[in-house]
Amino acid sequence: MLRTSRSLIAVNRRRLNPYWGVSGSSDDDVHGALLKSVQERLECRALPSAPDKVWVGNGTGQTCIICTKTIYSDEIENEAVVPGDGVAITLWAHLGCLDVWRRATRAHKSECPSSEAGSSNDHPA
Ligand SMILES: [Zn+2]
Repeated sequence: MLRTSRSLIAVNRRRLNPYWGVSGSSDDDVHGALLKSVQERLECRALPSAPDKVWVGNGTGQTCIICTKTIYSDEIENEAVVPGDGVAITLWAHLGCLDVWRRATRAHKSECPSSEAGSSNDHPA
């Protein structure tokens, strides 16, 4: 078991998954830049808010909505269905990218609380 996951990490080599390692400072620059670009995409509505509910599984070769890289079968893939323009849109993201996406969404909502007005009342202030 341990040997298998270690080889997966070695193959992966991208350090995208914060859950496999100690959340360190060396990834902060990479995540910081990605976080910024995700926030910009949220602001211009090029990207929907991060979903609360996702399906997790092994990568199926989909393209990550956050980093635009392929999610390979040795990586964790998060599948999310978000409401689009009248239809539901399915999006995929790496586990680490989903984390960045959620952080960006939280930051975006705290900056612009009015953008959420009327949609839901699930904020018991
Ligand atoms: Zn990604």
